[in-house]
Amino acid sequence: MTGWVAVAGLGPGDEALVTPQVRAALDAASDVVGYIPYVARIAPRAGLRLHASDNRVELDRAAHALDMAAQGRRVVVVSSGDPGVFAMASALFEALEAGPQHWRALDIRVLPGITAMLAAAARAGAPLGHDFCAINLSDNLKPWALIEKRLRLAAEADFAMAFYNPRSKARPDGFARALEVLRTTCADARPVVFARAVSTPQEELRIVPLTEARPEMADMRTMVIVGSSLTRVIDTPRGPVIFTPRSA
Ligand code: SAH
Repeated sequence: MTGWVAVAGLGPGDEALVTPQVRAALDAASDVVGYIPYVARIAPRAGLRLHASDNRVELDRAAHALDMAAQGRRVVVVSSGDPGVFAMASALFEALEAGPQHWRALDIRVLPGITAMLAAAARAGAPLGHDFCAINLSDNLKPWALIEKRLRLAAEADFAMAFYNPRSKARPDGFARALEVLRTTCADARPVVFARAVSTPQEELRIVPLTEARPEMADMRTMVIVGSSLTRVIDTPRGPVIFTPRSA
């Protein structure tokens, strides 16, 4: 039996946003590995072993997946959204780089998913219609000074910005500082999207000017999108729609 590893993105939450390619890999798998809430999204079936682990053990989890594949198992490592965006695909390659030589002969594939940024943008309109950047606001894996520098320079370069991991119980203050940095660079009316739990029953969407953006509007299930200087809001009977025109 030939083993393999597929690092797959489950999308933002809605089952309709799981790609057929990811669905097929899950159907063919003998083992699913991942963070507890993501593995909880996989329906149990005979012949499928589920290995749920805590956050922050990404490298151990990746090594476990590679080890099982080397023993002939068919392993899907699950992430939410896209596995290459602040998620398990890089962790898997870090483990591969540091691991035994025979792992490099394994069949390893990365199966893309719909990342939270794109699901949130689509829900709000088209805020990423011109040049944009994505920044992870968690300082778990990088110093806060680097985050502030990137925020400052991205605002100066007039990118629209998508923020992952804006705020958590363990990091209650960083996002307030991020908003302060933006307030020193961007106009007061700059639109900000708070898109929470997009594509799930808990979904909430808010579009506010930068002056009205408050740290408490974001949590770990929220994607924050800040428009560029050209981003505009249109009022419609179904609520505000935000877009960035294609030309600068
Ligand atoms: N690999 C994932 C991102 C992991 S980082 C992806 O591609 O989407 C986790 C962060 O993603 C969360 O803190 C939040 O900012 C964002 N996120 C994930 N799912 C979301 C959803 N359904 N709605 C809004 N934001 C979400």
